[in-house]
Amino acid sequence: MRIAGLQKLTLLDFPGRVACTVFTPGCNFRCPFCHNASLVLGDLEGSFFNEEEFFRFLGKRRGILDGVAITGGEPLLQPDIGDFLARIREMGFQTKLDHNGSRPDVLRDLIGRGLLDYVAVDIKNSKEKYTETAGCVPAMVDRVSETVELLKQGNVHYEFRTTVVKELHEEEDFRKIGEWIRGAENYFLQKFEDSGELIQEGWNAAGKEEMQRYLETVRPYVMNAALRGM
Ligand code: SF4
Repeated sequence: MRIAGLQKLTLLDFPGRVACTVFTPGCNFRCPFCHNASLVLGDLEGSFFNEEEFFRFLGKRRGILDGVAITGGEPLLQPDIGDFLARIREMGFQTKLDHNGSRPDVLRDLIGRGLLDYVAVDIKNSKEKYTETAGCVPAMVDRVSETVELLKQGNVHYEFRTTVVKELHEEEDFRKIGEWIRGAENYFLQKFEDSGELIQEGWNAAGKEEMQRYLETVRPYVMNAALRGM
């Protein structure tokens, strides 16, 4: 398992849990507004955080941390992600996964093996604007749709979320996203933040009023919808 970084404590990344966050390198999307450019575009053969060192750290956090959030990059590109999650679970910690929705086959397997407690999947935009917003090939849109249907079966707790970028999203997109994810467990509209390390410069956050309007647009489709980071 390639571990590009470790945040030893987070109260935000795993809803309702005290956790640490593991960052994995590489991604099969190229969202131009991605705020983790070095993780996505950086040297994938470079030196990484030692896996055994991570598990030694985790062993010392028993009784302090509830769980581990795994994010990227795209964690499901790691071939040994299942073994990694299984080891975390065996140590008594809960697991949360951030995913771009492109690997429903891998996600189905992990859910089936009971290795995930919570999954957060990005809905980058309406289907019509997906490739532009995620920097991905058109075939990925069907895969994200498969992931949406998989999670809506309710075999694991989950959220969908959209990072709202002023130049990429408009109200009609949220009506379409609402129809797409209708009946979902949770949906969050997240405020875009310029980390200073974007894949492409020139993006801005939507204003508070716009965000509120988009939230009202999506609410008829998802009861538990909310703004995040506002
Ligand atoms: S924001 Fe896009 S490019 Fe960046 S890690 Fe997530 S899916 Fe990959």
